[in-house]
Order: sequence, then C-alpha cells, then structure tokens
Amino acid sequence: MIVDGKNLDQLAWQKMEDLLPAIVQDSISGRVLMQGYMNREALTHTMQSGQVTFFSRSKQRLWTKGESSGHVLELVSVTADCDQDSLLVLAKPHGPTCHLGTESCWLPPEFPAISELIELENTVKQRKAELANGDAGSSYTAELLASGIRRCAQKVGEEGVEVALAAVAQDDDALLNESADLLYHLTVVLQARDLQLSDVIDVLRARKK
Ligand code: AMP
Ligand code: ZN
Ligand code: ZN
Ligand code: ZN
Repeated sequence: MIVDGKNLDQLAWQKMEDLLPAIVQDSISGRVLMQGYMNREALTHTMQSGQVTFFSRSKQRLWTKGESSGHVLELVSVTADCDQDSLLVLAKPHGPTCHLGTESCWLPPEFPAISELIELENTVKQRKAELANGDAGSSYTAELLASGIRRCAQKVGEEGVEVALAAVAQDDDALLNESADLLYHLTVVLQARDLQLSDVIDVLRARKK
C-alpha cells in the first residue's frame, strides 16, 4: 500500500509501541541505505517536509536524517508492506547516509547488479564536474567529454557495431566486453547532453503503460 498521509490509521502502530521499522532505499540505484523507526509524527513530518525523519530511540525525539551533517534523504515515496507493519522509504541521498561516511549502513559483498551502472554514471558525472573546474587530470572520460559531442557519439556508434559483430560471430566473451564498452560510452554521451540513465528508464516505464 502506498502511504499517502490520509491512510496512516491503516498502519499497524499497535504492534510495537507505536513504532514501525522504516527501511530506506536509494530510489535510483536500489541500494538499501539505512533502517530506522518512525512513529506517526515522524512519518507525517517526513511527508510534509519531504525529508526522511525518524523517531530516534536513543535521542527520544524526532530526528531528521542529515539535520547536522546536511546529508538529508530527499523523500520519493513511502509504501507499507503486506501486513502494514513495516515501511519502505524510497529516497535520494544528499551525501553518504551512514554516519561512518559510507553510502549505506551495510557493506554487503555485492550491491544489486544494476546499481553498478549508476555508480559508473556517478563517476562519469564526477569527471564532468572536474573538467568544468579545470582539474580533470589524465582521465579518459574527461578527455572524451572535452573532445565534444561528435566524438562521444562516434564512440557509441563504434561500440554498437562491435557489439553487433561479436553477436554475429557468436563470441560471447567479446559480446560481453563490447556491451560493457557500449554501456560506458552510452553513459558518457548521455552526460554530454546533460541526460542520465534514469531518464532512459523513465522512457521504458512510460512504454510499459
Ligand atoms: P545526521 O542526521 O546525518 O546529521 O547525523 C546526526 C547523528 O545521527 C550522527 O552523529 C549519528 O549519531 C546519527 N546517525 C546519522 N546517520 C545515521 C545512520 N545512518 N544510522 C544511525 N545513526 C545515524
Ligand atoms: Zn509485515
Ligand atoms: Zn550507519
Ligand atoms: Zn569496444
């Protein structure tokens, strides 16, 4: 169930002293970032302010994540699970979510596979920013971006052809490697136009409807 502010009475507050566990997931990469507890007030505050707010059991007060660090979690959506006793919060993190300085409070051996692509895109964005500041160093990505849209576009064309040739040759090893090249260069050409992978996902989502 999507929690919209009008259906808070349907949540199973009575199960655990008016608190519900709230799991926060990065709305773009799918990485699970942190877990906290919300009471009604924290949930209402979260939805009204657009910043994820918990009830801190140690502080015994409302705690907006990022209130001192600035690393707030920008709210995207809240949904309750099948029996309404647990919340899934999708958010966009403004900086590392863990107070230890890592992106997530968990350090699993592997994050969801698709989030690697988002991480690659973040690296490309970083190189673009460094280029704008004039301190890109010897990065291939920065060099490619600096050489202009035609060069970026040409690389996508080349890699696309290499993917096609590898597929026809039934060379799976080459197919995987050329596909990786294509995904990387696709990310770069999108960034060169100030677009991102999530914009492409939006198009795919719209087609499903
Ligand atoms: P912040 O909310 O980021 O301003 O951090 C304020 C304080 O909240 C930190 O000093 C920690 O004690 C605590 N804290 C911040 N982030 C987390 C987290 N992800 N999990 C648990 N405690 C946290
Ligand atoms: Zn449940
Ligand atoms: Zn943490
Ligand atoms: Zn290639």
